[in-house]
Amino acid sequence: MSYENRMYLRMALPWAMFGMFTILATWITTILADVPLSMGAAVSPLAEAPLIVAGIGALVTSCIAVWQFYRLWQWQHGKAEDCMVCGCLLGAEYQARWNVGRRCLGCRKFVQTR
Ligand SMILES: [Zn+2]
Repeated sequence: MSYENRMYLRMALPWAMFGMFTILATWITTILADVPLSMGAAVSPLAEAPLIVAGIGALVTSCIAVWQFYRLWQWQHGKAEDCMVCGCLLGAEYQARWNVGRRCLGCRKFVQTR
């Protein structure tokens, strides 16, 4: 697998994971919303809860995906900082032991930014 493909996978991971989390949360909320019906109530007070959970989850997931695609667009047009080793996009900035830098999303090398 090339470094560029690894970068794409690492960029897709956050919103794919949040999408999976949304599906799981919606499923659990659906089960919770059906509990009053199984106990004999005519109408569940939580009937709209799965829809609200799925809506919020889809909104957050699409916001993460749009942000990642924007970063990719910046990288493809040469407007983002890239790795000096493999040319891939850099991750979030963090404080390492001695200096501040960002880790490459492709080859995982630490790139000092300050
Ligand atoms: Zn790199």
